[in-house]
Amino acid sequence: MVEERPRDSIPRRWRFPLLGVALSLIAPLGWFILQIPHQGLWSWPEVKVELYDHALLYGYMTLGSGLCFAVAGYLIGRAFDAVLREQREARAHASAMEGLNLRLEAISVTDELTGMYNRRYFFERLEEYLRAARRHRLPLSLMMIDIDLFKRVNDNYGHPAGDRVLRTIAELIRSGLRASDISARYGGEEFVILLPYTDEAEARRLAHRLLTTVSSHPFPLPPEAGPVTISIGLSQLDVEHPVSGETLISRADGALYQAKRGGRNRVSVATGTPATGEDGGEGRK
Ligand code: GH3
Ligand code: MG
Ligand code: MG
Repeated sequence: MVEERPRDSIPRRWRFPLLGVALSLIAPLGWFILQIPHQGLWSWPEVKVELYDHALLYGYMTLGSGLCFAVAGYLIGRAFDAVLREQREARAHASAMEGLNLRLEAISVTDELTGMYNRRYFFERLEEYLRAARRHRLPLSLMMIDIDLFKRVNDNYGHPAGDRVLRTIAELIRSGLRASDISARYGGEEFVILLPYTDEAEARRLAHRLLTTVSSHPFPLPPEAGPVTISIGLSQLDVEHPVSGETLISRADGALYQAKRGGRNRVSVATGTPATGEDGGEGRK
């Protein structure tokens, strides 16, 4: 928490009494000025006589009102300081709460292990982007990624090694995406990527590039582990026949299943209709 520095260094409970003392001089001065025409105080000896004769009165006015003003100034200044201190504390508290809220918000949409967005956030954005793509007839693709034979990594090299592979793949995926793409951990060792403004050809290119990036990455596993690979299923929004986000996901999932059946480490594209060829699919059955 950053403590806000008071703008002035002398607290008001000390500044106000000083001001009070200065103000208290007005009383004897005012009284003296009033006496000038009245008593004809036009020369220094006359002034001296006036001050000498009424020394008690001037002293009383100076000291008495000085004391009163100083005490009042101290009390007012102290109250002022307390209010300002409370305001500062309230502002610091509010900004700390704001920071905390931002952190909580970030945590609530983030997958802990990979730092990627979580599934809930992904579905929220998917609906938004789908609406915009339908309205403006923009291309949109969806990519499902699954790590191949990942269970073996866990079984052979332990869960922590598996976690490291998961984190690295998440980083490789993220570093290959544009700022507008939204990637999330869909669950376990599966990832999903929303590719707005992306047609099938471009999505395919990106998918193949990801396959190569992952399969050629030097993961810190023993040589006998062989390369870590992924399989990818792709689906596209057909603006002539718009479908829901769930359908797009299930089509990409079906294509992913085809990629697995086709031998893994490959890309498969959903056709949007029930499976018609080796490069298409419609849901895991
Ligand atoms: P396939 O190529 O068919 O996808 O085979 P696979 O072994 O990857 O698939 P399977 O569904 O049999 O196994 C997935 C494994 O992913 C099992 C599970 O232990 C592992 N897994 C899921 N989440 C995590 C995780 O957070 N950390 C680690 N280390 N492993 C995970
Ligand atoms: Mg899986
Ligand atoms: Mg897998």
